[in-house]
Amino acid sequence: MIVSAVRNTAAQARQHPTRQACSSTPCPAGPSRSPACTLNVPSEANYTEQLPAGLGARLQEAGVSIPPWRGRPTSTLEKKKRKPQLMEEDESSGALLKPLVFRVDETTPPVVQSVLLERGWNKFDEQEQNAEDWNLYWRTSSFRMTEHINVKPWQQLNHHPGTTKLTRKDCLAKHLKHMRRMYGTSLYQFIPLTFVMPNDYTKFVAEYFQERQMLGTKRSYWICKPAELSRGRGILIFSDFKDFIVDDMYIVQKYISNPLLIGRYKCDLRIYVCVTGFKPLTIYVYQEGLVRFATEKFDLSNLQNNYAHLTNSSINKSGASYEKIKEVIGHGCKWTLSRFFSYLRSWDVDDLLLWKKIHRMVILTILAIAPSVPSAANCFELFGFDILIDDSLKPWLLEVNCSPALTLDCSTDVLKRKLVHDIIDLIYLNGLRNEGREASNTTHRNSNIDAVKSDRGGLDAHDCLPYESLSFTSRMYNKDDSVVEKAVSVHPQAAPASQLEGEMSGQEDFHLSTKEMAQSKPKIRSRHTPHKTLMPYASLFQSHSCKTKTSPRVISDHGKAPDPQAGNFVLVFPFNEATLGASRNGLNVKRIIQELQKLMNKQHS
Ligand code: ADP
Repeated sequence: MIVSAVRNTAAQARQHPTRQACSSTPCPAGPSRSPACTLNVPSEANYTEQLPAGLGARLQEAGVSIPPWRGRPTSTLEKKKRKPQLMEEDESSGALLKPLVFRVDETTPPVVQSVLLERGWNKFDEQEQNAEDWNLYWRTSSFRMTEHINVKPWQQLNHHPGTTKLTRKDCLAKHLKHMRRMYGTSLYQFIPLTFVMPNDYTKFVAEYFQERQMLGTKRSYWICKPAELSRGRGILIFSDFKDFIVDDMYIVQKYISNPLLIGRYKCDLRIYVCVTGFKPLTIYVYQEGLVRFATEKFDLSNLQNNYAHLTNSSINKSGASYEKIKEVIGHGCKWTLSRFFSYLRSWDVDDLLLWKKIHRMVILTILAIAPSVPSAANCFELFGFDILIDDSLKPWLLEVNCSPALTLDCSTDVLKRKLVHDIIDLIYLNGLRNEGREASNTTHRNSNIDAVKSDRGGLDAHDCLPYESLSFTSRMYNKDDSVVEKAVSVHPQAAPASQLEGEMSGQEDFHLSTKEMAQSKPKIRSRHTPHKTLMPYASLFQSHSCKTKTSPRVISDHGKAPDPQAGNFVLVFPFNEATLGASRNGLNVKRIIQELQKLMNKQHS
């Protein structure tokens, strides 16, 4: 029943063109050889609605048959003598199996290319291939609108249009200010008070002097940041108004002068967030991330010392203290997020509550732009959220980055390899059977996810992170190409807590002396039930818990549920039926905010 199988998997086919099944008999050479091969799309309306303007109409006119597969032409395959390895079961299913093709430019991080090659993808060759013969184009800069409009059903772009509204510091401030006005300060109090220059200059001056008066002899602190620059460039921290240099295209922000210090070093968190669609809104948060440290001790008496006040690794890796073994944090300037949470747990901090707040902050931030981003199909966006935690454990959003750095500067950065793998899993979650086969010598017939995982080199974060074994239902294919729902365990059993704590605190300098403890202990409220056991970070929203064997799956209006998890990516939005409903047919932000408010109230009660 190939037709019904394809009916159930229209969304997968959209994302994974090489999975297109021929209409009746197996078509080993693929649709490019056979004009008769068309994709039997179940709901034409649903499908075409996802396509870029123009293309959808053309498809409808043409009776909704998708253009023939334009992947790597067979001639090219033959020329290069690289035939994709076909599994027996795949051949019998009639699905086309070809290596996927990725496209890069000079700005693409090398780790992306290396991960894709490792997974058996081929690199797009402009000289030898048709312009449209690629599946994924990954680059650092955004795509032009025409590139989005012309994207083909089998292609994916790694940027969504309109996301600079979040990633420019001035735009972010304006959007969050608007949300605060609309929905109240209690929800949107996670961004430090911000003034956008030159428009807000007089407001800032008024605020500055009012605060001065209130504080008396105490000092107030401000940070001035170029709206468009990154990596700590052009930043100025000041307390005295005479040190403030006004410039256009800057924001002036309240400087968080009571950051959470670890071993007296300031740090911030880099949280990876992948939005796989804005319409309907679908947000995943990565359960691993980076903690970036300043490499000199925090000291408010010297605001000029970037190594003490800025946590950008681009700055700190060139500092004299970078290689030194520093109190508690060790050498270098990065920890993994799991090590950080483990550290917090060792101080009896409710790290789960902090993580929930971060999730909520991510959703609220993306909601600020979601209604106004242009519609675009076949694209996703990886964001890097920079979050500073203060000494009362309140998270503050500093900025949102598009194209967060994927360079591998130190051993901690190895998690970025896994991050890229997991992005590919997330985007192609339902089409993994084809992908990765060419590179894999190991066949895991029972789990297509395992098949891909088996290709991975380097550190596999699954193997050392404190996450519960999570099972979820994934679509799998029978020999007759029909879809079956099957529980797939994507995480290995977590190691015992003691072992994990050992691994994560592996460096000797992790252990604190009593004196150090006194200096570094964050001001915290102790949680009600101390727990040093493993933390299932995925299970944050009761209604979307991954704790159960088969997680609840919310059914989308395209008949496809957003997958609750891919690798370390966990779905954080939509998080229940109400928010799912409110994200369809136009985004009902007010309704979503109500649900978030309810969650917040529950957490506080
Ligand atoms: P950039 O895009 O240049 O990295 P960020 O806004 O991320 O700009 O700021 C760089 C660094 O400056 C942050 O990583 C953080 O250490 C520090 N910083 C930025 N804003 C604040 C703030 N409001 N309070 C305290 N520290 C801040």
